[in-house]
Amino acid sequence: DKKVVLITGCSSGIGLSLAVRLSQVAAFCLVYATMRNMAKKERLLECVKGLHKDTLDILQMDVTDQQSILDARDRVVEKRVDILVCNAGMGLMGPLEIQSLDSMRRIMEVNLLGTIQTIQAFLPDMKAQDKGRILVTGSTGGLHGLPFNEVYCASKFAIEGACESLAVLLQHFNIHVSLIECGPVNTDFLVNLQKAELGDASLQKVDAHTLSLYERYLQHCGSVFQNAAQDTEDIVKVFLDAIQSPCPAFRYFTSGVVPPLIKLKITEPDGSRYISAMSKIIFSAEEQ
Ligand code: NAD
Repeated sequence: DKKVVLITGCSSGIGLSLAVRLSQVAAFCLVYATMRNMAKKERLLECVKGLHKDTLDILQMDVTDQQSILDARDRVVEKRVDILVCNAGMGLMGPLEIQSLDSMRRIMEVNLLGTIQTIQAFLPDMKAQDKGRILVTGSTGGLHGLPFNEVYCASKFAIEGACESLAVLLQHFNIHVSLIECGPVNTDFLVNLQKAELGDASLQKVDAHTLSLYERYLQHCGSVFQNAAQDTEDIVKVFLDAIQSPCPAFRYFTSGVVPPLIKLKITEPDGSRYISAMSKIIFSAEEQ
């Protein structure tokens, strides 16, 4: 029997690549690629080039809109989803004091409540079937803090808590929850994120010390994405590992190893070693 897969946030990036790849494993999957804005479906269609018409369907779904989640669920012809991939998300970057309540709410609504709401909609059916998979695109920013990303990290930390809590319960329903923890990935993430740019009017009221640290952070971030970002294909391989494993792990690190900074958090739980190590990595040029 083919597995029915539903993925959120497929108009670009990781979601798009995963939808394309899974639709190519035609013997294995039927893919429902969902996206908030159907006007953006051309890119996905271009990638599948009409080859996989019978294994890929595109549905509208805004993860912040409960009705649109339920409508998409009801349009799944097979009336079941075996593998749910909660991937939609966005970033927010800049000094905390300039972030408006609206933009902070938006990030929490998309990243945290959007993920939870999507899971809620599919959970009763999965429980009734007594099997299922829930995969969530996690972030190393959900496991350790990053300056100028406070609200983004808060949303991703919160997802860790929600998923870990669910995983404990759902093993009693033969439902496996897995987080695919990504470091930097070459996607539209940096284009789509809400980011304060140097020179923005909103930054004028920010103190000079914070601004110089932010400038340093942006340089660091740019070089990390340039030198160390993974391609979406690498991330897709990890999703496939998790999907094909009979007994998937709760956490997968897309780099293949537990990142040293995360190890440091675990081995030095008072937190001071992590904080000084991260500060040194990001701001070291400032100290020289
Ligand atoms: P991306 O911006 O290319 O893709 C994110 C997708 O989510 C977009 O297609 C966007 O339209 C969609 N989305 C945003 N709001 C939505 C909503 N309300 N409803 C439905 N879809 C919505 O970036 P990406 O890197 O592919 O991001 C995918 C996931 O990976 C996100 O959860 C992100 O936080 C996570 N992640 C990305 C990186 C990275 O460096 N790119 C690192 C760690 C984690």
